[in-house]
Amino acid sequence: MLDSRALLEKLIAFDTTSRESNLALIDCVRDYLAGLGIASVLIFNDERTKANLHARVGPPGPGGVMLSGHSDVVPVDGQAWTLPPFQLSEREGRLYGRGTADMKGFIACVLASLPRFLEQPLRLPLHIAISYDEEVGCLGVRSLVEQLRASPDRPAICLIGEPTDMRPVLGHKGKLAMRCDVHGAACHSAYAPLGVNAIEYAARLIGQLGEIGQRLADPDRHDERFDPPYSTVQTGLIQGGRALNIVPAECRFDFEVRALPADDPQQVASELRAYAEAELLPRMRAVDPHSAIHFSELSSYPGLLTEPGSDAARLLALLCGHEDFSTVAFGTEGGLFDEAGIATVICGPGSMDQGHKPDEFVSLEQLAQCDAWLARLAGWMRLA
Ligand SMILES: [Zn+2]
Repeated sequence: MLDSRALLEKLIAFDTTSRESNLALIDCVRDYLAGLGIASVLIFNDERTKANLHARVGPPGPGGVMLSGHSDVVPVDGQAWTLPPFQLSEREGRLYGRGTADMKGFIACVLASLPRFLEQPLRLPLHIAISYDEEVGCLGVRSLVEQLRASPDRPAICLIGEPTDMRPVLGHKGKLAMRCDVHGAACHSAYAPLGVNAIEYAARLIGQLGEIGQRLADPDRHDERFDPPYSTVQTGLIQGGRALNIVPAECRFDFEVRALPADDPQQVASELRAYAEAELLPRMRAVDPHSAIHFSELSSYPGLLTEPGSDAARLLALLCGHEDFSTVAFGTEGGLFDEAGIATVICGPGSMDQGHKPDEFVSLEQLAQCDAWLARLAGWMRLA
């Protein structure tokens, strides 16, 4: 039987950067599972270049626990790696390679633990879910979530192994990324009032976003479990204009909302739309009737906040040996599972301090902790 290190070595060797196919990795996992007598269901994307894998062991029926991870990794382009990113290297108790922490280390531990789950009958079903395209907006998992939502046999609890240094995590903020295109009207800058300056109207919208952000930061709305303890809004990209002596007809900017699970980020977008409709468009159209402001969603995923007293949180505390729960700054697929009626918590080996960076690593000690955590889960799920 292969241990978690040996399995991680196999998984790291597949370049599953989100833009690439993940099918070679999925085939490898499917073959490994088949070798243990476990059947896999693959859910492909439309182009059949990527797939989610779903497998289950134990008794049939609803309930039980799902172990979930994403197979894709972020690019290594432009990063100063001193070790090969797609080949596992061991240095002083650390295993280096793209995805070791985020989050093939967890998947390797899950696969290595399966013989334990198979040793004796389980009293609950165990599900395994491996997704694609998590790093580009939690896109791939959505088809699997829909299948689970529609199934009477969906698991009750999902454990996502994103890197938390094996600490129990109950939540994170949600995110909405939006694009705004302002279409004005160009003219010679000497006649500026005859044009519709798209940059200046975009600036008004961005200023309005700033005011919404300030309101969201109101201390009355704080939730100290999160850092920062309030929802935030920021504009991160802007482009517009061709020359100083031309009134710019076009301006585009991208903004994002990082929302506490209690706040709805779509609310920010609708408020900005309403402001554009009521305050800006009438003035723009008075000069040029073709003026327009278009909003489009770039990506979004919901926040997650599982109750400390829930079954999912209690199980996580049992596995971790304490209930010192926290939240993380990064997003996960957890909010999507949660919306489908699967209570979700997060715990996995390695740290996001290493995730997405050159020379990403997970320590052997973290893998061992995860192996032990999974052994406790196997014990908990065993038929007495
Ligand atoms: Zn991740």
